[in-house]
Amino acid sequence: MTETPFPAPLDLFPPTRADGLARLAGFVPKGGRAYAERRNHDLPGHADVSRLSPYIRHRLVTEGDVVRSVLQHQSPQAAEKFLQEVFWRTYWKGWLEQRPSVWTAYREGVRRGLDRVQTEAGLRAGWQAACTGDTGIECFDHWARELSATGYLHNHARMWFASIWIFTLRLPWELGADFFLRHLLDGDPASNTLGWRWVAGLQTPGKTYLATAGNIARYTGGRFDPAGQLAEHAAPVDGPANPPRGPPPQSEPWTQDAATGLVLTEDDLSPGTLLDAGLSPVAHAVLLSAGARSPLAVAPHVHAFTRAATEDALGRIAGRAGPCGGVFEGTEAAQQIADWAERAGLAQVVMPYPPVGPSADLAAGLKTALAEQGIRLVRPIRAEDARAWPHATHGFFRFKDRIPDLTAALHKGAAA
Ligand SMILES: Cc1cc2nc3c(=O)[nH]c(=O)nc-3n(C[C@H](O)[C@H](O)[C@H](O)COP(=O)(O)OP(=O)(O)OC[C@H]3O[C@@H](n4cnc5c(N)ncnc54)[C@H](O)[C@@H]3O)c2cc1C
Repeated sequence: MTETPFPAPLDLFPPTRADGLARLAGFVPKGGRAYAERRNHDLPGHADVSRLSPYIRHRLVTEGDVVRSVLQHQSPQAAEKFLQEVFWRTYWKGWLEQRPSVWTAYREGVRRGLDRVQTEAGLRAGWQAACTGDTGIECFDHWARELSATGYLHNHARMWFASIWIFTLRLPWELGADFFLRHLLDGDPASNTLGWRWVAGLQTPGKTYLATAGNIARYTGGRFDPAGQLAEHAAPVDGPANPPRGPPPQSEPWTQDAATGLVLTEDDLSPGTLLDAGLSPVAHAVLLSAGARSPLAVAPHVHAFTRAATEDALGRIAGRAGPCGGVFEGTEAAQQIADWAERAGLAQVVMPYPPVGPSADLAAGLKTALAEQGIRLVRPIRAEDARAWPHATHGFFRFKDRIPDLTAALHKGAAA
């Protein structure tokens, strides 16, 4: 098959809230039964799904924006499937918040896999071919190139790709998750790690996801048919049992009359919510973490998206949060922010709660560096997260029962 060139990532996903809201407005008329019927089709252009994930993942557009907009056009019954999908991200985040060691174990798995790649020539060749789209399995190679070129893959393609990576190519799942995280504009520690674990059969023990040629042919409109090329059995993947569940995180309240700095991360780029809730920073700064997604180089389009999305957020709070002290990134960032906070005479630094992942890892270092200057790091959790996460105790099907109440609460909430 001759491939048409893929559009560039930032043309497909312009990194501003205004572009995200425009996409949302264009999608909601299709967010009812049409979405429920068509969402599994992976067709060029991906017109049957919202393509909102890079916006929602960074909270350029919040879940509240999505819920309110969809319910203006659709009844809760018609929008049920779409709303459930939106709440999958919330569920995965809540599940990981209560079992953060799964993220740590994933990171160790990536490092182990990369060590093996250095010493095992066969594994190295297989991994390289999978990442460059040179395996000879046409659909898989197409998705590898689509992901690298555009920063996006349809959900069904992600499932098929992960399944072929694990069960047909027999590559370590952590290296596949790492390949995704380095290229996806919506790269999300919880959805990605747990999505891969789910396909591998580690998330729900004994339940694997095996891609079949017939399913791929059907839902790609016959563009691909890998008959005879795919594993027919899902050989079990080794991994420790899910760790016991810990308590959900607690929101940290800020002190009203203390000299306050605001530090944004890529995890919540709608800081207007905090300002509307009475936070009045005397200065602000940014802690970027895209480079910390992987021990390997992260795709330039991921850096470009997060930087531009952050600039957009800074533009929206201009005049409401004091001067900007800088955009900090890399291994020295925590110390640089602590030095900035000290020079600015801050007593507390408020950071929208970063969920488990690279930003939270950097925030832990920042907390220590600030404490050395006698400055407090305060991480308030959005009300909707604090409400939802404690329900992510078991499987999604138990969590699903809460969605009508969680939706109603979001529907009532003020715009971000
Ligand atoms: C192996 C694997 C890895 C994944 N990695 C990521 C990732 O790194 N980042 C990421 O945002 N999503 C990830 N997903 C989930 C899902 O594939 C994407 O969120 C979805 O494809 C985004 O496209 P969309 O916005 O057009 O989705 P739509 O179908 O329009 O869905 C609307 C919104 O619902 C949410 N959503 C939909 N499906 C899921 C899901 N399965 N899990 C969590 N949220 C969902 C997203 O916020 C999405 O924008 C992964 C799924 C799998 C199977």
